[in-house]
Amino acid sequence: MNAPVNPKKLIKGATGDWEIVIGMEIHAQVTSQAKLFSGASTAFGGDPNSHVSLVDAAMPGMLPVINEECVRQAIRTGLGLKAQINLRSTFDRKNYFYPDLPQGYQISQYKSPIVGEGEVIVDVPETGETITVRIERLHLEQDAGKSIHDLHPTLSFVDLNRSGVALMEIVSKPDLRSADEARAYVTKLRTILRYLGTCDGDMDKGNLRADVNVSVRRPGEEFGTRCEIKNVNSIRFIGQAIEVEARRQIGIIEDGGVIEQETRLFDPGKGETRSMRSKEEAHDYRYFPDPDLLPLEFDQAYVDELAQHLPELPDAKKARFMGDYGLSAYDASVLVAERSSADFFEEVARGRDGKAAANWIINELFGRLNKEGKDIGSSPVSAAQLGTIIDLIGENVISGKIAKDLFEIVFTEGGDPREIVETRGMKQVTDTGAIEKAVDEVIAANPEKVEQAKAKPTLLGWFVGQVMKQTGGKANPQAVNELLKSKLGIE
Ligand code: ADP
Ligand code: MG
Repeated sequence: MNAPVNPKKLIKGATGDWEIVIGMEIHAQVTSQAKLFSGASTAFGGDPNSHVSLVDAAMPGMLPVINEECVRQAIRTGLGLKAQINLRSTFDRKNYFYPDLPQGYQISQYKSPIVGEGEVIVDVPETGETITVRIERLHLEQDAGKSIHDLHPTLSFVDLNRSGVALMEIVSKPDLRSADEARAYVTKLRTILRYLGTCDGDMDKGNLRADVNVSVRRPGEEFGTRCEIKNVNSIRFIGQAIEVEARRQIGIIEDGGVIEQETRLFDPGKGETRSMRSKEEAHDYRYFPDPDLLPLEFDQAYVDELAQHLPELPDAKKARFMGDYGLSAYDASVLVAERSSADFFEEVARGRDGKAAANWIINELFGRLNKEGKDIGSSPVSAAQLGTIIDLIGENVISGKIAKDLFEIVFTEGGDPREIVETRGMKQVTDTGAIEKAVDEVIAANPEKVEQAKAKPTLLGWFVGQVMKQTGGKANPQAVNELLKSKLGIE
């Protein structure tokens, strides 16, 4: 707890430095066809109340039946978080009353969750640090329905399509120390869930949302009182909410006040957090074991079987990309952030120079896709096409500069790169006779520069540029260099 604090993470107050402490509760919708305790569909965007079984509507006498697929997904997620898997867990009723909760309680896991302690390794781009965020637990619970207040001037409606959909609540220990770290943590967690296929992580659809707990303290002191910011639904907003909330708390303490533990909401429009309910108004959920459900039990062999079939996860993939292809840690992290870009990279890199493949993807392809608002899945340049462009450079058929023009043609028009080079005369001139002719012409046209170059060899670059211009960028740069050096008498 008293580890030295990176000064960059501290916030300057009127009376000295402050450290932010953050712990998160992430709600991740489980990827499954059916709900946690009923067979109703989880599909997004159906007509209101079109995916509602009698169980989800809480009709009297209806009994919940656990969906094995959701259990399987929760275990797989726990394994991906290197967490303790509990072979026996129980379901509890969390009682509260709200129009979008027809049962009058949410079925959740309280004292005995399905997954215990684990960890997530997080690279923080802004500081270059790698931090370990400890996971406290992961439990399964039902989502609620949705109240709709803006369709009618005096009436509210309820849509139960979401009611009963399985959520994993993933709770972190208070290990995060800045908005940057919090954003990097959620990003990494989402990447892991997507690799596993256990949650699609689509925050726009509400499939991943965060309750963000924030407190402040003097560096090295005990934790302060926290406030919980509910239901933040974008990674950018998570960062903003933390920063304004920390500032608010620092202001109160520095003015001699104390922080009251409470639940708050972030208003992105106003850039502020607002009180939702104080500790006194906090719900008493009166948790108790759900008598309709037996304890959830499975054996270690089942867990081992799932562990065996887990896909390669981002950390392992990153290490392999660094080891097998010689990539830098940074390039490897960028490529493994999405499984689709990692796969694309491997297709390009297979049998080629891995670093060249990574460079082309990160610097050229990603930049170009970004400009078009496209992602790698809809890239107009396929892995095979990009591979061929890299081959053409390696074979000295085209220069690196022409390769960029070729890339642009393939990006906008498509086609076989080899054929394009052929039909559009983009081949590099390696014929020394032709290059020599261009070199001679440039030298003859610039006698003054030639004199200067003898005294100032850095002028060579200017000559190279002129010859390249003369040959339409197609001369082999190395041949141009050598010829110029010998003709100008430069070492
Ligand atoms: P509760 O049971 O009241 O919800 P938990 O111990 O489960 O409290 O904590 C909920 C979340 O709050 C966790 O993510 C935890 O890391 C975080 N948290 C706990 N104490 C603090 C603190 N002082 N500052 C910031 N976050 C905290
Ligand atoms: Mg809690």
